[in-house]
Amino acid sequence: MTGKSLPTHSRLSTLESIDDQLIFGNRPLSEIADIAGKTPFYAYDRRLMTARVAELRRNLPDSVRIHYAMKANPMAGVVQHMASLIDGLDVASGGELEVALKTSVKPGQVSFAGPGKTLAEITSSIKAGIVINMESEREMERIAHLGETLEIRPNVAIGVNPGFELKTSGMKMGGGPTPFGVDAERVPKMLQDLRGLNLRFHGFHIFSGSQNLSYDAICESQRQTVELAIELSKSAPSPVLQLNIGGGFGIPYFPGDEPLDIGPIGENLHNLMPKVHDAMSKAELVVELGRFLVGEAGIYVCRVIDRKVSRGQVFLITDGGLHHHLAASGNFGQVIRKNYPVLVGNRLKGDKRERVSVVGPLCTPLDLLADRMEMARADVGDLVVVLQSGAYGLTASPTAFLSHPPPAEILL
Ligand SMILES: *Cc1c(COP(=O)(O)O)cnc(C)c1O
Repeated sequence: MTGKSLPTHSRLSTLESIDDQLIFGNRPLSEIADIAGKTPFYAYDRRLMTARVAELRRNLPDSVRIHYAMKANPMAGVVQHMASLIDGLDVASGGELEVALKTSVKPGQVSFAGPGKTLAEITSSIKAGIVINMESEREMERIAHLGETLEIRPNVAIGVNPGFELKTSGMKMGGGPTPFGVDAERVPKMLQDLRGLNLRFHGFHIFSGSQNLSYDAICESQRQTVELAIELSKSAPSPVLQLNIGGGFGIPYFPGDEPLDIGPIGENLHNLMPKVHDAMSKAELVVELGRFLVGEAGIYVCRVIDRKVSRGQVFLITDGGLHHHLAASGNFGQVIRKNYPVLVGNRLKGDKRERVSVVGPLCTPLDLLADRMEMARADVGDLVVVLQSGAYGLTASPTAFLSHPPPAEILL
């Protein structure tokens, strides 16, 4: 056979194994399955999270603060572990706030972003003393009003919708309409109005994208974000204490994806620091990351229930599917469906190889975990593993769809 080789999953080349069985979190898969007690399950490896944060710290300037965006993986054990590693937590709901407040992270290092915060959420945020990212002028009025009622001066930052977007190509694009944050051009007026309200101004939160594997694009966006913040800071009523420049650091999910090189991003931030310091001497610079910190530290495991051949195509039918892992099925923000790294965890190489589709038990063609992928020939009882499942897994899935039981979740 000739022809060019197909792009592969970079993550598959870094696996550890013993007797052809996957090792994850220092344990063979069979042992992890015993701990979980049932299939399907998610398993997260805290050592991988620790290593990832350490790698980041080696590359970023010492003064840059790292925040964990909890919505990537809000499991209480994961959040507790992350809290011991990072400098702050970013929450996006009252439910996440409750979990965040049970960690060692100081309330002043917890921020709450998201449009449509309820009065109850704003009230608990003010009482807790966390920083509320204001997403509209109306929300600012509400926060000030509730602060008066509670006789507490709320800590606030402005969520800014920049006039640019993080592009994979490094291309600039006019900032479009979004429900998130306040359009940058309206921020000076909002800062003016803020002066008349009893609010403690902390700074800006500027988020321009997610899941980017190009360091060039991320560096460009960071430069633009800092420029924008410096411009906006001129209208600030008091010194900027915190400048959250977002994150956008991606992880390799699909064939051909290469891991993000964070070296140049660290260098870029080193170069930007003097500028930030000159313009905003009291500001700490924050990067806010979700999937980059936890995404590679999790696997989803399900068991083969049936093996069918339909008109020449092999289907492995498993007890897990899109109701637990929507992203792996390709229905969580993917434009064109691509396969996550999926393998047979108890037969990495196997005796024979075959091209199979791995599906779940749901009565919908969307319930597809792997579409005609090459893996070891599997049989009933074997364990199928989906890698890169530590972020936007269980809590980003429609668990109520078809009324199957939830998976187990364990932290190793
Ligand atoms: C979701 C979110 C993040 C995290 O995005 P990742 O792609 O998981 O890093 C960061 N900041 C804000 C404001 C978010 O809403």
